[in-house]
Amino acid sequence: MRKKIVAGNWKMNNTLQEAMALTMAVKSAYKSKGANELIVCPPFPWIAPVSEVLKGTGIKTGAQNCATDEKGAFTGEVSAKMLSSAGIQYVILGHSERRSIYKETDAQINLKVKQALAAGLRVIFCVGETLDQRNSGELETVLKTQLSEGLRDIALSSLPGVVIAYEPVWAIGTGVTASPEQAQEVHAFIRNQLVEMYGSHESDDMTILYGGSCNAQNAASLFSKKDIDGGLIGGASLKAEDFIKIFESL
Ligand code: PEP
Repeated sequence: MRKKIVAGNWKMNNTLQEAMALTMAVKSAYKSKGANELIVCPPFPWIAPVSEVLKGTGIKTGAQNCATDEKGAFTGEVSAKMLSSAGIQYVILGHSERRSIYKETDAQINLKVKQALAAGLRVIFCVGETLDQRNSGELETVLKTQLSEGLRDIALSSLPGVVIAYEPVWAIGTGVTASPEQAQEVHAFIRNQLVEMYGSHESDDMTILYGGSCNAQNAASLFSKKDIDGGLIGGASLKAEDFIKIFESL
C-alpha cells in the first residue's frame, strides 16, 4: 500500500516563538485522515521543542539535512543517529538548495541516505532538473543519475524507508508550478526507473511526492494524478491554514 504524505519544509525560516506558534496552529487545525501522514521539518534547533508539542497527535517531525558521518570532529554537523535519538522520524536529503548552494554531490547524498536509514530515519529523497537541463533534453538523464547514484547500494529491504520527492528546480519558490500532467509524466518516469532498479512490486508501493510551488489552490489537481502521492511543501507550509488545506487535498 502506497502511503500518502504531505511534508512541510520550513527551510531557514521562523524564530523559536514563530515556530512554536506555527506548530500550535498546525496542531489545532489538524484532523487525521486515514493512514495519510503529515510531517513538519523545522530548522535543527526547533526540532526537539516542535516534536514535543506534536507528541501523540500523529503529526511527524523531520529534519532538513543530516551529516555524511556517524559522529566525530565535524563542527556544525548533526548526525542521523542524533536525530533519531531525539525521536525524529524523517530527514529530507538531496534538496536542490543543498545540491546547488552547498555543492552536495550525489556521492555525499548517498552517504547521508545510508546514515539516515542505518539510524532508523525515513528519507525524503529529492530529485529534480533545472530549467536549462529540461530545455536541453537532459531531464531523463539527470533524474536517472540522481536516483541511481543517490540510492547506490541501498538494499531492497531498506526501500520502505525511502520516499522520493520530485522537485523541478524551476518550480521551487518561484510560483511556477509544474502542471499536473507535466508532473505525472515525470512521476511515472521515476517509478519506471525504480522498477528497473528494484522490481515492480516494491516500486508500486513507493511514495513519490511532488514539490515546487504547490499550494492550497493547486494541490488537489496535482494529487489527483495516479503517480503523485502527496507533496513536499516549502512556502505554503509556513501558513498553518494553507498547509492543512493541502493535507486535506490528499
Ligand atoms: C521546497 O523547497 O521543497 C519547495 C517545494 O518549496 P516551495 O513549495 O516554496 O516551492
